[in-house]
Amino acid sequence: MKQLVDILRDSHHLNANGYAALLSAPEGDATAYLRQQAQQVAVDSFGHGIFVRGLVEVTNVCRNDCLYCGIRRSNTHVERYTLTHDQVMQSCEAGYRLGFSTFVLQGGELPRDKAQWIEQLVADIKASWPECAITLSLGEWSYEVYKRWLEAGADRYLLRHETHNPAHYAMLHPANMSQQNRLQCLEALKELGYQVGTGIMVGSPGQTVDHLVEDIQYIERLKPHMIGLGPFVPHHDTPLAHHPTGSADLTTRLYAIFRLMFPKALIPSTTALNSIHPEGRLMGIRAGANVVMPNLSPAAVRDRYSLYDGKASTHAEAAEGINQLEQQLAPIGYHIDWGRGDAPNFCKNNSHNMNNL
Ligand code: SAH
Repeated sequence: MKQLVDILRDSHHLNANGYAALLSAPEGDATAYLRQQAQQVAVDSFGHGIFVRGLVEVTNVCRNDCLYCGIRRSNTHVERYTLTHDQVMQSCEAGYRLGFSTFVLQGGELPRDKAQWIEQLVADIKASWPECAITLSLGEWSYEVYKRWLEAGADRYLLRHETHNPAHYAMLHPANMSQQNRLQCLEALKELGYQVGTGIMVGSPGQTVDHLVEDIQYIERLKPHMIGLGPFVPHHDTPLAHHPTGSADLTTRLYAIFRLMFPKALIPSTTALNSIHPEGRLMGIRAGANVVMPNLSPAAVRDRYSLYDGKASTHAEAAEGINQLEQQLAPIGYHIDWGRGDAPNFCKNNSHNMNNL
């Protein structure tokens, strides 16, 4: 098994059986070696700096109905909100003062006539803090809308593909949502020249090792700049409420596999991981993650952006708790890197120039 780790580290690739073997091995020396090699590769790429991104949860309104998600359209128990333009600007301002140089605007999928509102927001954030990067994570929109947002100043886009297996996708989404559309969105974002992030929930209901191998192979082909993975965590008001929480160990094992595949990719140690395990943040970093995304949303709305039960949004998970994050990182020899942390060798007009990833 350790040999497989060495091959993956040196060639950044395994065949399907190799990935399946790494995913199904019991926890032990080999998986410890996998994480340790991944951490070393991340240190070789980025040193001991961890990039931070300030997350602004702009809305919990959503036109989609994903079966796993707490803010799905059919959940009538959600008290819906959309931040005002000023509230988003104030959140970014607060983040800027704390030292953030990337703002991530995330939310449910707003009605289509809100595209203009987002465009204005992006333009105003860019005008106010031109040196900062803007990441959007607002779901599925048309090529034209993505283009307008890019031209307004957006730099990056996070859109997890969630699962590459069509039958599994159909288990997690209503019939009127199309996997093909989601994959086309990712193609459009790449073609336009965004720095693109994709990923999955680990342990989502019905997920098998074969599905994970398909996901790995899809990500291998897409070559995203960012790879976002968190455990599935049930939300009590969804049809998947009774499915078990995904495994923290498998999540960090996947961080390590992706780190060895893509030494320079941006891989966050996610809030979902930190929400299910008190040491989640550090476990992610010890498996090769190099980004964390503290919450910059106004405190009053944080509880309402509830994608899953028990979501952490205070202390080191909150932007105002940034000192606590520093204090968590220091004992393991890491520090916050306040830089923009763009994917290396990124060239805005040449989305195919990613050979170094
Ligand atoms: N609406 C946007 C962004 C918000 S959701 C979109 O669909 O891209 C952001 C991510 O949260 C999703 O991609 C999904 O992977 C994750 N998520 C949603 N529900 C979750 C749950 N119950 N457990 C863990 N992660 C969840």
